Amino acid sequence: MATTYIPKICENCSTPFLASTPQTLTCSHPCTTERRYGTFEERFWGRVWKTENCWLWLGHYNDAGYGVISYKGINTLAHRISWGIHKGPIPNGMCVLHNCDNSACINPDDLHLGDRDLNNKEREQRNPGTQAKGEQCARSKLTTEIVLAIRADSRPYSQLVVAYSMSKSAIAAIKTRATWKHV
Ligand SMILES: [Zn+2]
Ligand SMILES: [Zn+2]
Repeated sequence: MATTYIPKICENCSTPFLASTPQTLTCSHPCTTERRYGTFEERFWGRVWKTENCWLWLGHYNDAGYGVISYKGINTLAHRISWGIHKGPIPNGMCVLHNCDNSACINPDDLHLGDRDLNNKEREQRNPGTQAKGEQCARSKLTTEIVLAIRADSRPYSQLVVAYSMSKSAIAAIKTRATWKHV
C-alpha cells in the first residue's frame, strides 16, 4: 500500500511539511519536543532561581555538582550555556569557572574563563586537598532548601511564579515530584 502524505503546517515552527499520519502535528522530532516541553530558553530560564547574588540552578545536576540541561539532545553544563547567552562563545578548550564558589550558580557576573590549570589551582586554594565534592554538598543543601520551601508554599501558582522567578511548569514539576524526587 502506498503511503499518502498529508500537507500540513508545523504547529511549532509554522513550516509546511508532509505528514505521514493525520495525527502528526509537527515537522520534526525537535519541533515535537519543543511543542511539548517549551523552547530551550523556556526550559532553561524555568530552572533558574535568581537570588540577590547567585542565580541558582534548579534542574538536574551531574555527579560533579554542576547543573546540566539537555541542549539539542546532549547533556550540557548550565553555567556554560549561561556564559554563551550573556558573554558569547567559549574559546576551544577553555573552562567557565566560578568566582563565587557555588557550583550551582549560573550568574554570568559570577563566572570567568580559565584553562584547566587555573581551574585546579583555584579549587586547591578554596578547599586544600579536596575535590569538587564539597561544593556539591554546599549546593545540594542550598537548593534542597528552596525545593522544600516551594513544596511547603501554599500560595497560588500566580504568586509562586513571581516569588521564585520560575515558570509555572517548573514549580509544578517540583510540587508533583516530577523533579527533585529524592527530597
Ligand atoms: Zn517544525
Ligand atoms: Zn554565584
